[in-house]
Amino acid sequence: MDAEDRREQDTAHPRELEDLRARVSGTIVEPDDPLYDDARRVWNGMVDARPLAVVRAGSVADVDPVLSLAQHTGLPLAVRGGGHGVAGHGTVEGGIVLDLGALRRVDVDPASRLVTVEPGATLADVDRATNPHGLAVPLGVVSATGVAGLTLGGGVGWLTRSDGLTLDHLVAADVVTGTREHLHADARHNPDLFWGLRGGGGNFGVVTSFTFRARELPVPVLGANLFYRREKWRGALRAFARWTADLPDAMNSIASVLSLLPGFGLGEDPVLILGAAWVSPDTEEGLRLLERLRAEAPPDEEEVGPVEWPAWQSALDELFPKGSRAYWKNAALPALTDEVLDVLVGLASEISWYGTGFDLHHMGGFFGRVPAGATAFPNRSARYWLNVYGYWQDPAEDARLTAFARRVHAAVEPFTESGQYVNFLGAEHGAASPEAARQAYGERTHARLVALKDRFDPGNVLRRNHNIPPSSS
Ligand code: FAD
Repeated sequence: MDAEDRREQDTAHPRELEDLRARVSGTIVEPDDPLYDDARRVWNGMVDARPLAVVRAGSVADVDPVLSLAQHTGLPLAVRGGGHGVAGHGTVEGGIVLDLGALRRVDVDPASRLVTVEPGATLADVDRATNPHGLAVPLGVVSATGVAGLTLGGGVGWLTRSDGLTLDHLVAADVVTGTREHLHADARHNPDLFWGLRGGGGNFGVVTSFTFRARELPVPVLGANLFYRREKWRGALRAFARWTADLPDAMNSIASVLSLLPGFGLGEDPVLILGAAWVSPDTEEGLRLLERLRAEAPPDEEEVGPVEWPAWQSALDELFPKGSRAYWKNAALPALTDEVLDVLVGLASEISWYGTGFDLHHMGGFFGRVPAGATAFPNRSARYWLNVYGYWQDPAEDARLTAFARRVHAAVEPFTESGQYVNFLGAEHGAASPEAARQAYGERTHARLVALKDRFDPGNVLRRNHNIPPSSS
């Protein structure tokens, strides 16, 4: 789209937008509004779309009129929770953004451990609400991420081995479907929709409320970060592979190679961090297990001790500010063999810059015991999940660092199993990616998701996502 087209589009005001203004309690931000530039932006700074309007919902009652407008005009619709979607689907060129980000209420019932969450809540909102009750919902590792997108795709973090994915703790959701039915979905009501919401992304409707069952969190949780400089990476990662072969579920761990900010005090060179969260009251056992790793791979520096949960959950926030430029790829790995580790260490050794990294999440445990077809998450057998990610700031680096993420992914491909995690998946220039979704889910799960799409959004109103197209398209 050239500058003239953009000007024309920016000044186009379909009558429907005026009607919408009368029907919603929230605000509608259009291109001539001083708030527009902020309102159109999402976390991924590489996605620079100019929507026709951003509807900042004032309550969940605003969802239906916006869906109605998208349905009747055919305008592309982006649904935004926390705005952290890596592919940048939370905004859209020339369309309508339904921004639910102001709806952040979290209610906790300590007796039942049920936690009800509005669709704009961030992970920090949930941790802040549950922590005073000694409870936690398994979430991701950067606290500004939205609960909505995280849950609908999966939700991998510091409790994945002990407790599974965020979506494994979802017990109910309220949804306005693409057909504008207002449905409650749980194990008994609309169980097929409930299945699809747990992994199938925002393909079937707009979720207006999430209910999770939280777990009790031991006090204290034992946290560990062991830091290694370059020359120790190969040995430390091999030790990590051996260590993770027979750990109890309560030991959650992630190995990361990345450059930290100067404030972390570890210099500008990339470091390997072997991170762990032990969630059991038996602190002595946790320390004993960590000692096994430390003895095999003595770190250059370390932090080991009791952690306050919300602080642990937000420790990396500063590294990933809104506007970071990002392209992510991921892969499911059955094992950390010496061969795959050599490939990863070889590529990681090239990193002399700030802004790309990779994580190896240790899976198995509770996550691996959920039966494969119980949710729409694409793979339960992987023992490790690789996420190669970007968080750079300089637009001049876009091509080179995007290519780096692709190269790492291509190099590990021979060692992977099927399935990709849609929440760790970038998109070319923010475009919707049906083919990527088919590959991510695999044929069987994808076919089941298409059947749901036919039922709940046959017009593909909800297409600005890792799209599952209806069978008629
Ligand atoms: P949004 O961009 O608002 O939404 C993403 C998509 O979800 C939308 O495009 C839409 O299709 C859908 N959606 C959002 N809200 C709704 C709704 N109410 N109803 C229907 N559909 C909806 N993932 C992990 O698993 N673990 C991590 O530790 C983790 N860390 C991350 C750290 C950073 C810095 C970033 C950028 C991402 C991280 N992710 C992680 C990935 C994250 O789970 C996804 O990016 C997720 O989509 C973010 O959700 P959101 O609501 O913030 O994003």
